[in-house]
Amino acid sequence: MGTDVLKCRDISELSTDYSEGTLSTRRRLAVGLHLLMCRMCRTYLDQLAKTRRLLADRPLALVAGVEDRVIAAIPVAGIPVDGGGPLSQD
Ligand SMILES: [Zn+2]
Repeated sequence: MGTDVLKCRDISELSTDYSEGTLSTRRRLAVGLHLLMCRMCRTYLDQLAKTRRLLADRPLALVAGVEDRVIAAIPVAGIPVDGGGPLSQD
């Protein structure tokens, strides 16, 4: 079949396009195939989707850069986002 084999790093690079549905069919299949085999990336994309939904429901999402910072923190911290914490500065 000659399907592309993606690595976990590729998944994180493609995750935004994947969740927004802007990947080509071939790319999407390759990501889907990786997700079948890789629980870590499934969890990662799941967290990503939840976080996006959470932020979309909150005025917090209007603050530039917050979404990116929160999403960037997911693979490192691996904890649920509760909307509190270091985001409010004054
Ligand atoms: Zn993976």
